[in-house]
Amino acid sequence: MLKVSDLTVSFSGNPVVSGICFSLMPGEILGFVGESGSGKSVTSLALMGLLPPNAKVEGGSASFSTEKGQVDLLKVDSKTHRQIRGQGIAMIFQEPQTSLNPSMICGKQISEAVELHTNLRGAKAKERCIQLLAEMQLTDPAKVYSSYPHQLSGGQKQRVMIAMALAGNPRILIADEPTTALDVTVQKSILQLLKDIRQRHQIGIIFITHDLSVVAEVADRIMVMQQGQIVEQGTVTEIFNNPTHPYTRRLIEFRK
Ligand code: ADP
Ligand code: MG
Repeated sequence: MLKVSDLTVSFSGNPVVSGICFSLMPGEILGFVGESGSGKSVTSLALMGLLPPNAKVEGGSASFSTEKGQVDLLKVDSKTHRQIRGQGIAMIFQEPQTSLNPSMICGKQISEAVELHTNLRGAKAKERCIQLLAEMQLTDPAKVYSSYPHQLSGGQKQRVMIAMALAGNPRILIADEPTTALDVTVQKSILQLLKDIRQRHQIGIIFITHDLSVVAEVADRIMVMQQGQIVEQGTVTEIFNNPTHPYTRRLIEFRK
């Protein structure tokens, strides 16, 4: 579904990620681990076409299968990328409030995403929106629909963001440290929600975290990044039982 080869990104001429290779299958959760500043977000933003202006993709390819055939995410024009961001690959971030408009009820914001990415309009879009909120296992979807972001808890806001990300039925969800700002019980329920979504929709999920124990709970496979490079990839069992790279060994030791 997604095959990234040799992705290299630089900031003002300095490479920050280089030679990134990985692939993602439908319905798979790929844990993307590495300490802060190692290049996890830059890698995802490159795939999303959302790098800041001082960043440059120096090389590589990211082949993504769409209904119209393969596209290279590193080479498509901005219009195609916008389309892919809604219907192909969606992303959620650590701080949901930064992506939510504080002066618009949450339901309206999700409805806008539904209208942007599907043919549903008006009452039909609202209906879909309530359905998405219900799927997020929120106890009172209608109430969340008419709430402003500040009236919701951190976990509820993250669920709203996931609902919005799923508005265009994407095939891949990139979750960039989605549970880092949440307390442990809320964290666990969001992880369970992501597993349910994967199960139900066969979405491929790239789950980014600096926390190896979170990844053990949610991922099928893990890739480990250090200083802009992937130093190790494998199944969760392989990585935990037989880490080959010294950095991965240190991560696992540190966790014990
Ligand atoms: P991670 O998500 O793994 O914590 P990032 O992908 O955000 O790390 O950052 C990787 C590296 O890229 C950072 O160490 C930093 O040096 C560089 N970087 C990220 N964003 C910018 C930026 N806007 N301008 C310059 N350098 C940046
Ligand atoms: Mg990051």
